[in-house]
Amino acid sequence: MNFFVVLFEKSITIYRESGTGCLMTIKNSMTLNDHSTMPRLGFGVYKVAQNEANQVVSEAIKCGYRLIDTASMYQNEEGVGEAIASSNLKREDFFVTTKLWNDDQGIAKAFRALDMSLLKLGLSHIDLYLIHWPSPQRASYVETWKALIEMQKQGKIKSIGVSNFAIEHLEKIIKETRVVPAVNQIELHPRFQQKALRAFHEKHGIKTESWGPLGRGKFLENKTLISLAAKHHKTPAQIVLRWHLQSDLIAIPKSSNAKRIKENFDIFDFALDSQDMNAIEALDSPFGRTGPHPLQTDF
Ligand code: NAD
Repeated sequence: MNFFVVLFEKSITIYRESGTGCLMTIKNSMTLNDHSTMPRLGFGVYKVAQNEANQVVSEAIKCGYRLIDTASMYQNEEGVGEAIASSNLKREDFFVTTKLWNDDQGIAKAFRALDMSLLKLGLSHIDLYLIHWPSPQRASYVETWKALIEMQKQGKIKSIGVSNFAIEHLEKIIKETRVVPAVNQIELHPRFQQKALRAFHEKHGIKTESWGPLGRGKFLENKTLISLAAKHHKTPAQIVLRWHLQSDLIAIPKSSNAKRIKENFDIFDFALDSQDMNAIEALDSPFGRTGPHPLQTDF
C-alpha cells in the first residue's frame, strides 16, 4: 500500500493506492500558448436559463469550479456575472470564457459584441474569447479572428481562441495572421474522440477543450464505463471526466443538479491506469457526433 501526497490548489490531501503503479496526479490548471493559465475542469452553462444561472453557477463556485464557460448565444451572461460578483472571491480567481455568435462576425460587429458581453457579465476583461463557429458560408471568420487579435492587444481579452474549427479553418487563420489560437473548443467525448484534429492541435500548440464532455449524458450507461466506475468506486460521469483530464483535455461538463455539479468536480482523488485508458479509447466511433458538423452548418 503506497501513500501519495497530492497538491491540489492550496489544500494537501493524502491518500493511498493499492498495487504498485504510481498514481498520476493532476493539477487543475494548464498553460496556454500565450503563457496564461487555464483550469482543466470547468463548468458549462449551455441551456441554463437566465433566471437560474446565478443560482446554478453559485453552486458550482461553491464546489470549486473557477472556469465558467458561457456564450452570448446562451443568453445567460448576466446570471453568470451575478454569480461571480456575489461570490466572495476575487476577479482573478476566475477564468471566464464567452463566445462571439455567428451573426456578430465581421470586424465592427465583433467589437460591439465583445462590449455587450462585457457589459452583461459586468467584467472589464474576459479570460478567453472564442469565435463560436466558423460559419464558413459567411466567409468572415478570418476578419473576425483579426478583430480578436486586436481586442487582445487592447487588453479586453486575455486569451483568444476558436470553437468548432476544423483543420482547414485553423490552417486558414494561422496562414493569414500568423497568430495561433490558444484553444479550439470542440465536441469531444469517449464516443467521439477527434483524434486527427487533436493531433493537429498538438503539433501547433493549441489546447483542446471538450464540449459535451459527457456525450450530453447519452453514453453513461455503457458497459465499459459502468465496470470502470465499479472498479474505482466512482460514477461513469466521473470516469469520463477523469479520462478527459488524463488525455490533456479541458472539460466543461454542465449540470443544473447540485449533486451532479459536486460529483463532476470530485475527480482529483483517483487515477485511471493505462488499461482503463485503452478501454475508453476503444469506445471511439465515427458515428459518435451528437452536434452539428462544422463543415455542414447553415447557421
Ligand atoms: P455535457 O456532455 O456536459 O452533458 C450535460 C448533460 O449530461 C446534462 O444536461 C445531464 O443530462 C447529464 N449529466 C451531467 N452530469 C451528470 C452526471 N454526473 N451523471 C449523469 N448525467 C449527468 O453536454 P453539454 O452541456 O452540451 O456541454 C457542456 C458545455 O459545453 C456546455 O454547457 C457549454 O458550456 C459547452 N458547449 C459548447 C458548444 C460549442 O459549440 N462551443 C456546444 C455545446 C456545448
